[in-house]
Amino acid sequence: MFARELTVVQQHCQSEAIKSARNGLWLLLPEVPPVSRVPAEPMRLDYLIKARAVHSMTGDIFRSVGVHGAAIVAVSPEIGGLDDMVSSSTLVAEVGDLTVWPAFADSHEHLVEASRNSLLVPVDRARSVAEFTRMVADAAKAVPENDWILTSIGWHESNLAENRLPNLAELDAAAPDHPVLARRGGHLAVVNSAALRAAGISAETPDPPGGKIGRLADGSWSGVLEGGAVYKVAAFAPGPSRAELAGALGTTSAAYAALGVGTIREAMATADELLSYQDAWEHEQLQVRVRLMMRVGSEQSTDEAISLIRGLGARSGLGDDWLRIWGLKLVLDGGVEGAALDEPYVNDPANSGHLNWEPAAMTQVCAEAVRLGWRIGTHAVGDRALRTLLDVYEAVVRQTGPLPPWTLVIEHGLLSDSALRDRAVRAGFGVTVQYPILWNMASEMLNTWGPERTSRVTPLDQWLAVGADLAAGTDIVRPFNPMTNVWGMVTRGTKSAGVQGAEHGIDAATALRLYTMGTAALNHEQDRLGSVAPGKLADLVGYPVDPTAAVAADLADLTPAFTMVGGRITYDPAKRLAR
Ligand SMILES: [Zn+2]
Repeated sequence: MFARELTVVQQHCQSEAIKSARNGLWLLLPEVPPVSRVPAEPMRLDYLIKARAVHSMTGDIFRSVGVHGAAIVAVSPEIGGLDDMVSSSTLVAEVGDLTVWPAFADSHEHLVEASRNSLLVPVDRARSVAEFTRMVADAAKAVPENDWILTSIGWHESNLAENRLPNLAELDAAAPDHPVLARRGGHLAVVNSAALRAAGISAETPDPPGGKIGRLADGSWSGVLEGGAVYKVAAFAPGPSRAELAGALGTTSAAYAALGVGTIREAMATADELLSYQDAWEHEQLQVRVRLMMRVGSEQSTDEAISLIRGLGARSGLGDDWLRIWGLKLVLDGGVEGAALDEPYVNDPANSGHLNWEPAAMTQVCAEAVRLGWRIGTHAVGDRALRTLLDVYEAVVRQTGPLPPWTLVIEHGLLSDSALRDRAVRAGFGVTVQYPILWNMASEMLNTWGPERTSRVTPLDQWLAVGADLAAGTDIVRPFNPMTNVWGMVTRGTKSAGVQGAEHGIDAATALRLYTMGTAALNHEQDRLGSVAPGKLADLVGYPVDPTAAVAADLADLTPAFTMVGGRITYDPAKRLAR
């Protein structure tokens, strides 16, 4: 980190001696010319990348980039412009077939959730009951007797050839000596006899409040649990250990690196999960930089929430370039099915969603958090939630005084109108935008919100037209290809509901900028990440297609040839950056 700071210092300072505010040392530095190279004396490069084009994200297009340690130290518009910096230890990567730009920085993703999911049996891939139960049996063979077998929750019987749930007898046959809990979505599960035994459920156990323990016609258990019965059993099924989660953070983050991601802003972590992150960081398992949001749950009283924040004993910005605390995360309303809307749900006219926080209490919590040095990101999906959030944030600023950009952040803001957008921009509240939510859930939105609202979900063109600060991300609990997201921001195409609101598409260059510079600004790191320039950290990707010149259809499935994070290669399957 010190070497990187020195580089930045060398770039920006013309004075011979400067005081390092952080360590109090006086550093004697050479004068450097205001050109695209640091320091003035030729420096040994670790990497010299010669590409078809290097998009700086600030308007310049280069042909060559020099990397030393964790930083970019030189750039040139000429393919041979940095040849004098090559030494015997420099790796010269001749990648004239690739276009290079800063690695993607995801403004809102759930790496913890994706990592935890990776430890579960992936029955969402099963296409028959037999395949489903074989996966469970294989998982049981791999662990000691009585260990719980937990499946991923994203499966559905409609994807199984038999179009029915697996039953208790089938799960008993697959894993007689292991409790099996196969949750399907949030409110339903199938289990085996060992799971019911482990949860203390006997023939006499009544249905729990708000739940049902399914029975067959003869009164025996069917294995199907609903509502409260799911939670009753799940309470006995342990989550992954701290070490297991740390390992999974490593392997899952590698899957993101393979898709060109250099930084993830983790959108929800608890103090326990922070420990797993620190373990993964300490063992250099993280393949992406992580900026963490710490959860402040709405189930707490105002006093409890404030004492939780005080108890964190830190504030935004703690950490290093790999793992840093971004701020706090609050959730104001639900998802597609619980978003707080101005107009009711089209499929349920009595319902207009719910708010999790009482605005006055939320204002008190947020104002105290800001005074303690915290940034805050709040999930607000519906237009009523966005309006309430603006009320709260504006009230906070009235108490605290003006705040730097990206201190109070709107997460999602899927539904907005021009008045709400104007308010957010005027007050300087940035928005993290996730096109993949529309890509994935457009069919559900059409059912619940109707076609008019669905077509104007996340209108990037409208936000940009009024000068909003935006940062692009995904918010999907699985590795999501950033280039599919770029394609979606351009085309407004979705997974299974066609094109929604084509007029709100933006161009690919702007999409890339929101996904690099935008997130760097969100993370208060625009001086060190988000663009290709001397002194910036060497987070780079190389792709076989230039998105700014390609037709949109060629972008959707594109994956990188390499990903580099801080001068460290995190993905390079064809060894393009190797000797
Ligand atoms: Zn989220």
